[in-house]
Amino acid sequence: MTKDIYVTQPYLPELKDFIPYLEQIWDNKVLTNGGPFHQQLEEKLCEYLGVKHISLFCNGTLALVTALQSLRITGEVITTPYSFVATAHSLLWNGIKPVFVDIDPYTMNIDPTKIEAAITPSTTAILAVHCYGHPCDVDAIQKIADTYNLRVIYDAAHAFAVENEQGSILNYGDLSVLSFHATKVFNTFEGGAIVCHDAKTKKRIDQLKNFGFVDEVTVVAPGINGKMSEINAAFGVLQLEHMDKVLDRRKAIDVFYREQLQDVQGIHFITHTNETKSNFSYFPITVEPDYPIGRDELYANLRDEQIFARRYFYPLISQFPMYRGLPSANRDNLPNADKVASKIICLPIYPDLEISDCQRVIQIIKAGAHRNEMV
Ligand SMILES: *Cc1c(COP(=O)(O)O)cnc(C)c1O
Repeated sequence: MTKDIYVTQPYLPELKDFIPYLEQIWDNKVLTNGGPFHQQLEEKLCEYLGVKHISLFCNGTLALVTALQSLRITGEVITTPYSFVATAHSLLWNGIKPVFVDIDPYTMNIDPTKIEAAITPSTTAILAVHCYGHPCDVDAIQKIADTYNLRVIYDAAHAFAVENEQGSILNYGDLSVLSFHATKVFNTFEGGAIVCHDAKTKKRIDQLKNFGFVDEVTVVAPGINGKMSEINAAFGVLQLEHMDKVLDRRKAIDVFYREQLQDVQGIHFITHTNETKSNFSYFPITVEPDYPIGRDELYANLRDEQIFARRYFYPLISQFPMYRGLPSANRDNLPNADKVASKIICLPIYPDLEISDCQRVIQIIKAGAHRNEMV
C-alpha cells in the first residue's frame, strides 16, 4: 500500500529524549506561569534567532491579538488578503477594520507601492506577512510607516530563523509574531511568540498574556490567558537542538524540487528573494496557463495518489464571509492576489519526507505536463 503524504508533518525528536524533561516538570511541579522551561526557551530562542526579547504564547493567533493590543492599535489596519485567515481575524478580535492591499505577484507579499493609496486618517498600522518565509520589502514598508506615523507588525508565522544581510528578519517593524503550531518549521505542539525590541514592551506583552496582571492585586488591562505551558516550552527546548538538522533536510528537498521542476513547462516557483538564510518552510508552485491541465486538476491528481498537497492560500481571506463585504475585499482591488490564489499549490516538504516520496510528487506533475503528448 502506498503511504499518505501530507503537505507537512511535524518533526519529533525521539520520545526517550523527552522523558527527562517530563521528569523535571514532575519533580518541581511547576506546570505553567513562566516556569523554568518557559524562561529557558525564551533565552534560547533569543540566542538562536538573534533577537533581543521574546514572549512565548500558547499559540500564534493569541500572540497576534495581543501584539495589536500591546501597541493599542485601533481604527484601520492595512494588511494582505494572501495569508492564513488568523492574520485578519486578529484584527476583528480587536475591533479593528482590515484594509486589504494587493500583493506582489512574484514574492506574494504585500506590495508596498500600493499601500499609500489605502491610507486614510483612521489608519494606524500595517500588518504584513512574510509569506512562505520570504521577507517582505521591509525597508519600503518602514519608509511608508515613518512618513505616515504608522506602526508595523509582521505576521512572521512562516519566518522562523529567516535572515537577511542585517540578521534576523524578526528585528524589523515594531513587533513580529511567530507561530509554533505543529505544522510550522519549529513547533511546540501548539505555541507562538512575540518578538519585540525593548524590555518595557516585553513587560507589557507579558502582562497582557496573563490577564493584565502587574502584581498580585493590580490588573491594568483586560488581558487574555495566552501563556505557554511548561510541557510545550520543554518540548521547544528539546526541539531547538534539532533545528539545524531540520533545516538541512528541508533544504535538500527544496533543492530536489527545484532541479526536477525547472524544465517543466507551465510550473513556476519562486527562485530569488532577498533572504540570506531561508527556512524552506513551504514549496509553493504556480500552475500557469501553459501547463496542460488546471491547478485543481493537478491537485486532484495528487490526491488520487494519496499526496495531500494544499492550496495555500486559497480562498483569499478577503473572500470569507466576515471580510467580503469590505470595500477593499473587492476582487478588482486585489487582482494579483486573486490570480495567485487560483494557481497556487504547496508541495509536501518536511524533514522526514524521503526523496522517493518527492519523486512520486514530481512524477505526477510531469505526467500532467505531458498529457497532450499522450493523446
Ligand atoms: C499558522 C499561522 C498563524 C496562526 O498560528 P497558530 O499558532 O496556528 O495560531 C497565523 N498566521 C499565519 C500566516 C500562519 O501561517
